[in-house]
Amino acid sequence: DLREPRGHLNFDDVEFAYASGPQILPRFDLDIPAGQTIALVGSTGAGKSTLAKLISRFYDPSHGEVTLDGIDLRTLAPDDLRSAIVMVTQEAYLFSGTVADNIAIGRPEATRAEIVRAAKAVGAHEFIESLPHGYDTDVNKRGGRVSSGQRQLLSFARAFIADPAVLILDEATASLDIPSERAVQAALQTLLADRTAVIIAHRLSTVAIADRVLVMEKGHIVEDGTPDAL
Ligand code: ATP
Ligand code: MG
Repeated sequence: DLREPRGHLNFDDVEFAYASGPQILPRFDLDIPAGQTIALVGSTGAGKSTLAKLISRFYDPSHGEVTLDGIDLRTLAPDDLRSAIVMVTQEAYLFSGTVADNIAIGRPEATRAEIVRAAKAVGAHEFIESLPHGYDTDVNKRGGRVSSGQRQLLSFARAFIADPAVLILDEATASLDIPSERAVQAALQTLLADRTAVIIAHRLSTVAIADRVLVMEKGHIVEDGTPDAL
């Protein structure tokens, strides 16, 4: 039963290859205790996004299993999986609709008060209020008048309101100005509290706030330690 998932993730003897391609994850083992914040780093093609996609069940392993609180992800009901594990990717930051719609995408039944609370929690409320129609302002896919830092804050508000036990985040590579960077970092720390997080990290500041840094090369974890030690 996964009514209250704690967020303990485990990869046990996992193998994965894309159709008829080489093994991307050969014999992969990894344990992530509930509540831990992982920064995942490594060169391009190392398998970071593939790992993230196995956790969010975008793909299933060809061998071995990925478990959440000891339960094979493949045996979880789709609704349980969707509410327990949320993946925030760079591509999915915004869709056409209002700011409020964009925040509530994972929880369409959310009230306006809940939407505002999520926006406040991640420090997005002020800029939203400054938009022409506030929470009812339309944004297009590219964000229109919303900056890339603000876009990230909106995606954090979306994840905050979904409140998953496990958050997977593929961090944006776009560099931000210093005030935006600070705002995004502060929002991230709020978002990470009380949940398991795996962040494909592109910022040193993100690596610094992680409990544990994993360096991945060619489908293997080659370093595993605290930010200080690495
Ligand atoms: P980056 O830092 O560039 O995002 P990554 O660590 O996320 O890299 P992955 O995207 O997981 O790397 O890719 C791992 C390997 O799998 C690479 O060799 C890549 O070419 C291959 N790969 C990724 N997606 C697919 C796919 N859909 N079909 C076939 N091969 C793929
Ligand atoms: Mg990637």
